[in-house]
Amino acid sequence: MALLQISEPGQSQAPHQRRLAVGIDLGTTNSLVASVMSGTATVLKDEDGQWSIPSVVHYAQDSPVVVGRKAQENAADDPLNTIRSAKRLMGKGASDIDSSWLSEHYHFDMDSGSLPAFKTAAGNKTAIDVSSAILSKLRATAEETLGGDLVGAVITVPAYFDDAQRQATKDAAALSGIHVLRLLNEPTAAAVAYGLDSGTDGVVAIYDLGGGTFDISLLKMQRGVFEVLATAGNTALGGDDFDNAVADWIQAQAGVSQLTDKGARRQLLALSRSLKESLSSDSSAAYDLTLENGTQFKGELSLDVFNEIIEPLFKNTLPPCRQVLRDAGVAKTDVQAVVMVGGSTRVPLVRSKVGEFFDQKVLTDIDPDQVVAVGAAIQADVLAGNKPDSDLLLLDVIPLSLGLETMGGLVEKVVPRNTTIPIARAQEFTTYKDGQTAMALHVVQGERELVTDCRSLAKFELRGIPPRTAGACRIQVLFQVDADGLLTVSALEKESGVVASIDVKPSYGLSEGEIEQMLKASMEHASEDVQKRALAEQRVEARRTMEALNSALQADGDQHLSAEERADLDGLLQNLALTAESENHDAIKLAIEKLEAGSSVFVERRMNASVKQLMAGQELSALENALVTGETSGESGQT
Ligand code: ADP
Ligand code: MG
Repeated sequence: MALLQISEPGQSQAPHQRRLAVGIDLGTTNSLVASVMSGTATVLKDEDGQWSIPSVVHYAQDSPVVVGRKAQENAADDPLNTIRSAKRLMGKGASDIDSSWLSEHYHFDMDSGSLPAFKTAAGNKTAIDVSSAILSKLRATAEETLGGDLVGAVITVPAYFDDAQRQATKDAAALSGIHVLRLLNEPTAAAVAYGLDSGTDGVVAIYDLGGGTFDISLLKMQRGVFEVLATAGNTALGGDDFDNAVADWIQAQAGVSQLTDKGARRQLLALSRSLKESLSSDSSAAYDLTLENGTQFKGELSLDVFNEIIEPLFKNTLPPCRQVLRDAGVAKTDVQAVVMVGGSTRVPLVRSKVGEFFDQKVLTDIDPDQVVAVGAAIQADVLAGNKPDSDLLLLDVIPLSLGLETMGGLVEKVVPRNTTIPIARAQEFTTYKDGQTAMALHVVQGERELVTDCRSLAKFELRGIPPRTAGACRIQVLFQVDADGLLTVSALEKESGVVASIDVKPSYGLSEGEIEQMLKASMEHASEDVQKRALAEQRVEARRTMEALNSALQADGDQHLSAEERADLDGLLQNLALTAESENHDAIKLAIEKLEAGSSVFVERRMNASVKQLMAGQELSALENALVTGETSGESGQT
């Protein structure tokens, strides 16, 4: 049997062969897939020659699942089994459905396990199932077009998606056999598409108006790294509302106050949508529609009238724009670029009014429907290793500092916030007590000085540390965060080689809002925190002083001290023990100083005794060594 060959690390088996990777915009309304081909990110067309598919899945009894345009055709006839906007349900629980738009349109099964499911003719389907059907269709399109198996995909998600929503997206990908190279925030993908990551540093605004949602994000670029400064939006505002407003207007023109037939209303909405879309390039659009129930709509809609109809809806996007500027503490004049994303930003009124608001020309060169998928494709190409010579795009940063609890309930930050990932950082810590053989490691996240004000991520223990005097051991703690935000913390005691480690998911566990909240709190409490830290440090110092003195007293106190001297020292020790319980930093400091002064005679006598002992039989170099090893551990913290 021939031996299998393994290539050198970092080199792929066939250096000239591109690894097929795609970017996927898994949208609420429409989804697309793109890939870098001949150096250009291109959106891939499906078998019908279309580059975007409606995010719609039709389930029928005993027949294959239908996805996209063909599924949408069933919307009027079989609305309950034609699932759209499933993205709104990703990562959500049964309690989130009641208040949602979805509950008006679909029937749900709340009892099937923990995930709520759409009741369809083909059985219960979760949002993950629906998304996975859409992803499978996109994967098929990609593999057909690119002519091979995909190594993976970058899938975009809204910046505000929390851990559960991101995990649901990953689950959907896994179900459809797609390896997720990385989840990427939609606004970040749009900024990458415009190459804003390699431009000058500054703030960019991403205005995304889709079918049913509006998102505004402010991103800050620094050396090719994007940080989400703030996001806001409206989860119930988008092109669908424009369609509804136009449909209402047409009904009013035709003198029909209400359409009781759901199918008829859907038909009218489809007409309204096509009128709206043609008004993005024409100045008027004629319509002529006869519903099955005989109602006739005939007339013309001019761009001016259309603008009047939608302006009140558009205006609802401005308060969130003001809010992100306020939240991020950024002035409009600091915004260096405004990127238009989403099909509804094709509407001329939207473009001009957003431009007016930010007082600059908005970016529309890249098709606003395609821009997110294009950015994701560029990122996928890099992550798949197709651009070995280029600087790897590092697009994510740690939103909050990661650190370790040290003595006194204090936090030692090991990885500061905004550090780009992937990252590995090591820091040395040491033992607190003589003979300590285990160490409790508590990993925390946050900007505050005290553990109680930070978020606890994980706890683990390192055992088997050789018993040494306090501060003598060297424990190296390594924080590693990979590209997906997965944190691994490991601890290694250098002399014995004992190790322990733990995995944590830090960066996606919190929503943007919670992160902001924690940052705000750290600023508000900055001076208070400094005081608390000083107090805690003073207490640690007090305990350390007492421990050291007590162990010395135990060893040879009787030898060097009279009963009276001993009683005085015990008094000072007791005083410090009591004072250390108080909140008074200066009093503790004073009590430590008193104890140090009171014990100086004892320390001196011990020192003299050991020097004499050494002089008796040893060389001078040994004496020097003995004096040097009295030192403390310098920079390393004690845990
Ligand atoms: P999502 O991100 O929610 O999936 P999209 O970005 O694909 O949504 O936007 C879909 C919306 O864009 C729909 O409401 C659609 O009618 C609207 N749209 C698409 N093309 C145009 C156009 N030419 N003019 C105006 N609106 C458009
Ligand atoms: Mg979108």
